[in-house]
Amino acid sequence: MKVHKHFDIRNHNTFRVSSYVRYFLGAEREEEVPSAMEMAENLGYPMMVLGSGSNMLICSDLNRVVINPNLQGIQEHHHGADVIVEAGAGVNWHQLVRYTVERGYGGLENLALIPGTVGAAPVQNIGAYGVELKDVFVDLLGFHRQHGRMVMDAGACRFAYRDSVFKGEFKDAFVICSVRFRLQKQSKLNLSYDALQREIQKRGLKPANPAELADWVAAIRSSKLPDPEVIGNAGSFFKNPMLSTTQYNALKDEFPEIPGYPTASERVKTSAAWLIEQCGWKGARKGDAGVYEKHSLVLVNHGRASGAELWALATEIRQSVFEHFRIMIEPEVNVLSDV
Ligand SMILES: Cc1cc2nc3c(=O)[nH]c(=O)nc-3n(C[C@H](O)[C@H](O)[C@H](O)COP(=O)(O)OP(=O)(O)OC[C@H]3O[C@@H](n4cnc5c(N)ncnc54)[C@H](O)[C@@H]3O)c2cc1C
Repeated sequence: MKVHKHFDIRNHNTFRVSSYVRYFLGAEREEEVPSAMEMAENLGYPMMVLGSGSNMLICSDLNRVVINPNLQGIQEHHHGADVIVEAGAGVNWHQLVRYTVERGYGGLENLALIPGTVGAAPVQNIGAYGVELKDVFVDLLGFHRQHGRMVMDAGACRFAYRDSVFKGEFKDAFVICSVRFRLQKQSKLNLSYDALQREIQKRGLKPANPAELADWVAAIRSSKLPDPEVIGNAGSFFKNPMLSTTQYNALKDEFPEIPGYPTASERVKTSAAWLIEQCGWKGARKGDAGVYEKHSLVLVNHGRASGAELWALATEIRQSVFEHFRIMIEPEVNVLSDV
């Protein structure tokens, strides 16, 4: 296990904000994970798990022991038309997607180019282009601070929209070591999402296989979202709000253009990006903290913004959306502060 004391995690978060943590423990093998958890316990600081920090805004130094589960490796097991693919928590998510589509396995192609690690993917049930992780999830293996080694199926993970048990009851108490997915050798592509339909019309053809669809998704994403390697960001900063039908209809009377997408839960999902844009924030900048000029849901670090400055901007945006629409938008990213 790699142990670093008083460690700056600036290069371990995609906003590229500086934050010193008490200890940074890099676990590269499964058996190192419980040892790292025990060490955190003995050191007397709260433990926290960090993948590649692409869904985090860190607003201060942290009085915590950070565990970075960097377990590598991808394995596959064939069961008739299905293939079960198992990947270590530290595997880069897009690298896993590439591995599967290059072999013709279908299921992960709509989730191409999402930054981050395999181990973090179940935490917020990552989703994009009409597919969520839960659609292909089999189970995961990890360690709980009190209960030890556990295998958890989808029911135990309690997946919901950008949510799971790892954001609630198991938060900072469970380290995911590996995840298994059920993929198809002969898959039907999911092309239902609006942006994919528009792309089909634009190109006058459909993608022929999972690899081609993954390339389409990657190209659409690159045209809209900033590359964290170029400009610090954590993707969509806020969740799309879920409204009751009554609340949505009342807003629709007042703002006829407000987008609304019915969901299985009978609530109406509206677009946080639209709400923010209506309040005039697209492309706005306060010092080095800003709103991306092509996508109002994305906060960016133009250079030297601190986590606290980015959070101050997020707070202003939330307040103004609330004043205009009576909707309090919630962050999708994990906002951390020990001050
Ligand atoms: C440009 C951009 C685009 C994005 N687009 C999307 C998108 O389309 N859809 C989407 O869903 N997300 C998107 N995201 C968010 C992000 O990519 C995902 O949330 C990703 O899964 C985070 O991975 P990570 O390794 O960086 O996790 P981190 O940010 O390091 O951690 C996120 C959370 O997971 C926990 N965690 C991390 N690893 C583990 C583990 N092994 N065990 C237990 N807990 C763990 C952390 O404690 C934290 O609570 C985007 C981000 C960026 C920067």
